[in-house]
Amino acid sequence: MLSSLMQISLYNTLNKSVQPFTTADGSNTVRVYSCGPTVYNSAHIGNLRAFLAADLVQRVLRVVGGFEIQWVMNVTDVDDKTIRDSAPEANAWKTQMGDRSGDPVVDLRTFTTYWADQFLIDIDAIGIDHDHLMELPRATDYIDQMAELIGNIVEAGYAYERDGSVYFDVAKYRTSHEYGRLFAIDFEHFQAGVRIDADEYERESVSDFVLWKKQKDDEPYWDLELDGKPLPGRPGWHLECSVMSKALLGPLPFDVHTGGVDLRFPHHEDELAQCCAGYGASEQAMFWVHNEFLNVEGEKMSKSLNNFYTLNDIEKKGIEPLDLRFAMLSTHYRSVYNFSFDSVKAASLGRAKIQDYIWDLVDYTGGFEHVAEDGPRELAEAFEALASDAHTPKALAAIHAFINSNPVIEISEQRAASILFEFGMLNGVFNVWTAAPRPTIEIPKEIEDLADTRWIARSAKNWAEADRLRDQLRAKGWEMKDGKDSYELHQL
Ligand code: AMP
Ligand code: ZN
Repeated sequence: MLSSLMQISLYNTLNKSVQPFTTADGSNTVRVYSCGPTVYNSAHIGNLRAFLAADLVQRVLRVVGGFEIQWVMNVTDVDDKTIRDSAPEANAWKTQMGDRSGDPVVDLRTFTTYWADQFLIDIDAIGIDHDHLMELPRATDYIDQMAELIGNIVEAGYAYERDGSVYFDVAKYRTSHEYGRLFAIDFEHFQAGVRIDADEYERESVSDFVLWKKQKDDEPYWDLELDGKPLPGRPGWHLECSVMSKALLGPLPFDVHTGGVDLRFPHHEDELAQCCAGYGASEQAMFWVHNEFLNVEGEKMSKSLNNFYTLNDIEKKGIEPLDLRFAMLSTHYRSVYNFSFDSVKAASLGRAKIQDYIWDLVDYTGGFEHVAEDGPRELAEAFEALASDAHTPKALAAIHAFINSNPVIEISEQRAASILFEFGMLNGVFNVWTAAPRPTIEIPKEIEDLADTRWIARSAKNWAEADRLRDQLRAKGWEMKDGKDSYELHQL
């Protein structure tokens, strides 16, 4: 381990500024909660960007900051959409899910388990190591704790029952707390006492949001009792994250809460209000970290706009999931990433170039890594960029600049071993390269012939012809590396 672990800074939505990171309790363990997937069909690559941002932040804290991480990501397996799509009328049941039981709670569980399993396959493929996740709790396993929190909020006077549902009283809450800490809410049109039952709503509809929804027709339901009154129903979406973050990460506030920018309101604002009202907390999390959207043709990728691709769609087009990971990391997590197939292909060249350099280092050192105890790091600029709000594009620019000015043939074996070690650390964040020995590949005869012809042209100082042949080789996916007396061929 390099002796100099770095001070990390992160943009905090609570204060709208980049702040030096410290843990809430001053310990070396960072407690991170990420809003996870709603499991009613495949995640699209926009959703994956949010999970990747969470992964990035925990990796930067772990690898660059030297912290231990406790990372929890919830699985939403009860909400408007999971209920809608698991119902028989939706015709969304798959044969792999087995037979329907006829019990809506059991069928909801079976339906969402199938999609939760698919989610794990997707995150594994894009390099999110789910061994890093301490827990992936499911909302329906925490109904009792949710009932308890509702009881607390009602008892504290911030919620009320109406027609079998329970609502959070925003006007009452505002008499003693600030509502709108994560997102500027326009209260001009706020009507106290207006109730909203939907899990997702626009900021214009700021009103009393639902904590517990009365059972409807054949929908799944659980039991809740308030003041001796039975209220069969199911939780509102926001409740689960307040409950599971506290249940699994311990005393509030925990350290980092992540999610996409669209979750700032209402989801996160409501999570925070529930924690303050029901747990008496002054903060739910110290740092709120939000990623920007992945867009397609200028619009947010989303299921409702029907402009989405799943990872499976991308793979069918011949794109490797790790190239998508790398392409997403080539944009800062707080900037919009404009997805296009061409942009991923272009990024894949950058990834291959760095991989090639790592293989050169491995070939040269035999894989030996040296840990330089003191002195500046070889790739100091890249580490600094990562430490400053996880700025992956700046880190990549620094890595490319380093590679260009330090060809492996020109450096000592000792330095190569230190550099290899540092690339190992960088890969602890990027997770798209390998330091295993370069795989041996069959070079097609046509490519060898072209390379030989170019070598002859080059030896004869026929530069124009040599350049033309180099381009021809590149177009066929091969890069020629010239040494003093011979050349090497690398696949791009
Ligand atoms: P959901 O499964 O709908 O609850 O969303 C899971 C995560 O994906 C949330 O953190 C959202 O903010 C995030 N998200 C949804 N659409 C996009 C998008 N187009 N780009 C980036 N993040 C997104
Ligand atoms: Zn959440």
